[in-house]
Amino acid sequence: MRALVWHGTEDIRCDTVPDPKIEDERDAIIKVTTCAICGSDLHLYDHVMPGMEKGDVMGHEFMGEVVEMGRGVNGALRKGERIVVPFTIICGECDQCKRGYFSVCERSNRNKSIAEKAFGHTTAGLFGYTHLTGGYQGGQAEYVRVPFADKTHIKVPDNLSDEQVLFLGDIFPTGWQAAVQADIQPTDTVAIWGAGPVGQMTLRSAVLLGAKQVVCIDSVPERLEMARAGGAVTIDNAQESVIERLNELTNGKGPEKCIDAVGMEAHSPRALEQVYDRLKQAVMLESDRASVLREMIYVCRPAGILSIPGVYGGLVDKLPVGALMNKGLTIRTGQTHVNRWTDDLVKRVADGQIDPSFVITHRVGLEQGPEMYKTFRDKKDNCIKVVLRP
Ligand SMILES: [Zn+2]
Ligand SMILES: [Zn+2]
Repeated sequence: MRALVWHGTEDIRCDTVPDPKIEDERDAIIKVTTCAICGSDLHLYDHVMPGMEKGDVMGHEFMGEVVEMGRGVNGALRKGERIVVPFTIICGECDQCKRGYFSVCERSNRNKSIAEKAFGHTTAGLFGYTHLTGGYQGGQAEYVRVPFADKTHIKVPDNLSDEQVLFLGDIFPTGWQAAVQADIQPTDTVAIWGAGPVGQMTLRSAVLLGAKQVVCIDSVPERLEMARAGGAVTIDNAQESVIERLNELTNGKGPEKCIDAVGMEAHSPRALEQVYDRLKQAVMLESDRASVLREMIYVCRPAGILSIPGVYGGLVDKLPVGALMNKGLTIRTGQTHVNRWTDDLVKRVADGQIDPSFVITHRVGLEQGPEMYKTFRDKKDNCIKVVLRP
């Protein structure tokens, strides 16, 4: 089959690789009909996230048709059924899965010991996302093996198109969870850093959850325009002071809720801080840049909540913990507990409350995948979200 394969930094190729096979009785094989490139794939493309190996198949946003199943899938799926696959692999039976904390499933990461060394505990297995999270082959491919397939799936109504439901596997519940974790009240201003795909889903979720005002911060004109179309006030951080504008928009109080939809590759508008973080990253004293986190802590209204869906991989430096503590801020974060939210979100899409396909700007075949990684990373050609059809 053809698949997008990681070969090294900025080197992803469309290769021919062996078809996946059933390896465990709870596996299913899916014929992928539609998949996407996610912002967090760029951390692998740029190789700032450790644990990739040459030959790894990329991709954790995909959907398709069930073509084969092990005996252990046990009637949970049928041949020919169309499913979206959540990016977090879940067993459905461990203590964490039973509590709905699916992204920290205790059983689905087959490289538990590496994760325990890095993080103190294992987290869930993820598709196409480093050997720290199981080294499972991803879904930017014609076929994919889904482990624990009797639980690791999202059923979707036939009358909704692939593009309407594809993002239920990652960015839509990711934005939704980020907004839910901010505990949005009708009196709240919610400030969101990053108007990429997750930022866009977060801001629409914050609007659906009834925020008084949603503010979105970015510097890319077409992303800011899409944010305004979704109901946000925007701040262009290349042109304006984020702190001044947020204070203006909140009568000097600061936003009650701040959401980081950027993560570990933040670019600070403050040159000195950017140089500091870049240098420390270069000599491996700091793995993640933290300029968004610092700004959020500084501007957030005391007793507010910081929600972090943006992905971090390791260590950050110079975090203003004094401001964090004295202002009494709460931090909520985590990879997305996808299946915790999807029953509700499928209904919202079916009801027409939201059509997540608004974010798609590029539709291409798999063989154009490698150049699309570059276009998406460089934000060229007004690229916001790339969908691939294998
Ligand atoms: Zn993702
Ligand atoms: Zn589990």
